[in-house]
Amino acid sequence: MSGFVGHGRHDVVTADELTSVEDHLAALIDLLPRPDPIVLRLQDAMGLVLAETVTSHVSLPSFPNSAMDGYAVVAADLAGAAVDDPVHLPVIGEVVAGSAEVPSITPGRCVRIMTGAPLPVGADAVVPVETTSGDRGQIAFHRAYEAGANVRCVGEDLTPGQPLVAAGRRITPADVALLANAGETRVPCNPPPRVVVLSTGDELVPADDAPGPGMIRDGNGPMLAALVRQAGGTPFSGGIVRDDRKALMYALDSNLGHADLVVCSGGASAGTRDVLPDVIGALGEVTTAKVAMQPGMPQILGRIRDVPIVGLPGNPVSAFVSFEVFVRPALRTMQGRRDVARPRVRAVAVASMTSPPGKRSYLRVRLAHSDGRWTAAPTGAQGSHMVSSIALADGLAIVPEDVTEVPAGSQVDVQLLVD
Ligand code: AMP
Ligand code: MG
Repeated sequence: MSGFVGHGRHDVVTADELTSVEDHLAALIDLLPRPDPIVLRLQDAMGLVLAETVTSHVSLPSFPNSAMDGYAVVAADLAGAAVDDPVHLPVIGEVVAGSAEVPSITPGRCVRIMTGAPLPVGADAVVPVETTSGDRGQIAFHRAYEAGANVRCVGEDLTPGQPLVAAGRRITPADVALLANAGETRVPCNPPPRVVVLSTGDELVPADDAPGPGMIRDGNGPMLAALVRQAGGTPFSGGIVRDDRKALMYALDSNLGHADLVVCSGGASAGTRDVLPDVIGALGEVTTAKVAMQPGMPQILGRIRDVPIVGLPGNPVSAFVSFEVFVRPALRTMQGRRDVARPRVRAVAVASMTSPPGKRSYLRVRLAHSDGRWTAAPTGAQGSHMVSSIALADGLAIVPEDVTEVPAGSQVDVQLLVD
């Protein structure tokens, strides 16, 4: 990583001063630690990313059993059964789910059986009770059944060696079910990254305080903590830090011990109070970048004592988009996820969209699906301070660097804000 490159005023940014989105993301990914896997009990692993593929050690079903409440029979006995010419068989016993004793039958007899009960030795089919008649001693069968009917066979669900859940997958409730049924109750997971969130700015008050003159509520802190949690990390709120060297130094220094990553917002650009790059540079190494994107151009990357620091612009929309473009992929990479990028769809722009030359625009849009195609409608004014439009968006339309206008009716790529 290059050293501190300064943060003087730049009123005009030329294309060759800009860093591409890909290069900036790659520089961040380079800084990331990869925490060692931990073995967790299955009930604690939900939502974490599996570190190694887990394979089955068992067959499921592990013994042949009944798929129905009914009668276990030898299928050949019922070959001639018909509604007007039923076959009658004596019942010689009953077997229920959980029976350790498995009865045997010989041709010409049947056993009452419950769903999940082991199939009697010698039986090869189960007749559902509702297709039979008669009392408990003598049962009438009114139709034939193939051998194997309503029998759950050994290994038809799982066999030993079969992969259950792949490395890099975020464990879902269905995965928990599969692993539990297979008896894989301790699983290797990548620990959730611990992310310290700091909001920098002299103008900020906590969101639950009333702002005085010239002050605003800290919306970025809660937003970034929520985004971290959604991305599988554990957020720690470092609160609000003044635009002051000493205060920033203390805040960074005192939070590094419990952070795998620090995410700051504000102070990333060229204001006279934007002291964050200087402070990170004094404690470690730092790069300031002007990334060829809108919103989100001013970005900071740094590292202090092996902990990566990301500095996002303070405007709420810029911070939100920067998180989606850089921090979410970084957190997914730290967790060893296979799917680092969020899904994208091609959509038809409902209204025209514009983008500055040389920059990739991320425009908040609302997606709809009709007549087999996606449409993307801008959520309203796209100013970087317009928080009202973030919550309406379910996607970010991506207008490439070499495109300045997307006319209504043409196609645009949309990165989803959900998975
Ligand atoms: P900065 O990146 O510090 O120059 O801030 C850019 C804009 O974002 C300014 O209008 C700030 O007041 C605003 N801003 C900075 N931090 C926050 C925050 N935590 N919550 C809401 N707005 C913020
Ligand atoms: Mg500021």
